[in-house]
Amino acid sequence: MPDTVTTDLVVLGGGPGGYAAAFLAADKDIPTTLIDAMPKPGGTCLHRGCIPSKALLHAAHVIHAAHDAADFGLVFAKPQIDVAKLRGKKDKIIDAMSSSLLDGCKKRGITHVPGRGTFVDANTIQVEGGPTVKFQKCIVAVGSVPAKLSTFDIGSKRVLDSTTALELEDIPKTLLVVGGGYIGLEMGSVYAALGSKVTVVEMTGGLLPGVDADLVRPLHGRLKGQFHSIYLNTKVTKIEEVKDGIKVVFEGEADIKEATYEKILVAVGRRPNTANVGLEKIGIAVERGFITTDAQRRTNVPHIFAIGDAAGEPMLAHKASHEGKLAVEVIAGEHTAVWNPRAIPAVVFTDPEIAWCGLTENDAKKQDREVKIGVFRWGFSGRASTLGRNDGLTKVITDPATDQVLGIGLVGAGAGELIAEGVVAIEMGASAKDLAMCIHPHPTLSETIMESAEVLHGISSHVFTPRKKAL
Ligand code: NAD
Repeated sequence: MPDTVTTDLVVLGGGPGGYAAAFLAADKDIPTTLIDAMPKPGGTCLHRGCIPSKALLHAAHVIHAAHDAADFGLVFAKPQIDVAKLRGKKDKIIDAMSSSLLDGCKKRGITHVPGRGTFVDANTIQVEGGPTVKFQKCIVAVGSVPAKLSTFDIGSKRVLDSTTALELEDIPKTLLVVGGGYIGLEMGSVYAALGSKVTVVEMTGGLLPGVDADLVRPLHGRLKGQFHSIYLNTKVTKIEEVKDGIKVVFEGEADIKEATYEKILVAVGRRPNTANVGLEKIGIAVERGFITTDAQRRTNVPHIFAIGDAAGEPMLAHKASHEGKLAVEVIAGEHTAVWNPRAIPAVVFTDPEIAWCGLTENDAKKQDREVKIGVFRWGFSGRASTLGRNDGLTKVITDPATDQVLGIGLVGAGAGELIAEGVVAIEMGASAKDLAMCIHPHPTLSETIMESAEVLHGISSHVFTPRKKAL
């Protein structure tokens, strides 16, 4: 690699936002350089987030499915867990995917520069142990890092964050998960399935704060069976390393005030990774750590764009990819391109999964907005019954004046796959009547979306809606 690389576009950060942007830019014949701290692209999502956690959640799912099969007369022996092999499988998945991304760079003629980049001035980035990169345009896609709380900063290897929890060093006998959000519940589910006695402590009054309560309820019910305890309205005020673990002091509603766990996982949110990039040197505006951008993802320095977790909530890979592609379209001269999604889907990959998109019931309440809601419980779904998973629910939220679909919420097996239909419906301006009229295959869980729209209109085959008596 030469000492100086000169490029039209540099993308700083090679996660799903950064590599999607770099690939599209190269496809549009823009000479592009991709800088990432890791040897191969993929970012947090691929190396220490979405992909490894989903590989481990798949293993957890197989364990649960084998256990639940007893209900169908199929009794399997207790699983023998080879942690090294499981870890190896996860690492192989990551390696294959990141190698394929590196190959994607090569095929597209993208200059891939491994190493941490820092702005020197508004047209130069210095890569640690690497070249100086001179650019005309830049997309900052530096992502986020786990939030740290001083209470847990005791320098102990027994205190895990999402990155070290995914390394799966071993399966602790007891694990305390601090934070009942996405990461806490997904990783808590993995460790519980693999044999840890898991306790979750959440400082608010419910798991997954902000998510509609009717979607969380079935998950909470099932997790009560998988986890040892769930403490709500409780905080950890002090931790200390003792001989066999970490001694923890609780404050709040938990019925115990002190306990010792072999390990603890701190999953109390993530923060934008914008502190050590040299943004201040070039005067890029940052608010609460997030880079501020306009609707075209342009920062206050007009030739520099910012996308993904570093540029605002929600911190989701698919939102980052779309923002990255939008920034490239703008750079390529599509001046009317703007960021204006009607529905960004969110999925919590627990068992059952929770997924939603567009307006939620909580949003509607907060906005004091009148909506109509149709709820279809999976007790009436043929497919859910055949899977032995009637613990789901699908709801559609509409504008009462126009019947337009504003939001969809799901909890249940495979909810993460089903939500895509909701996104298409909302983006295409579909009405609930449209959803009810589209023929859905039987017997599938996708029918529950159609049936929720039928419930809303009082015409569901499986849910009787009492008629209003004529006066
Ligand atoms: P989160 O915001 O989802 O949850 C953090 C939880 O910790 C909240 O429930 C909060 O109330 C609780 N909390 C905060 N301080 C606490 C304390 N001192 N004691 C007890 N509880 C405390 O954050 P996360 O789970 O760390 O995930 C971070 C981000 O990563 C999410 O915002 C999400 O966007 C992303 N993520 C997405 C997925 C997915 O798409 N499936 C999976 C994992 C992470």
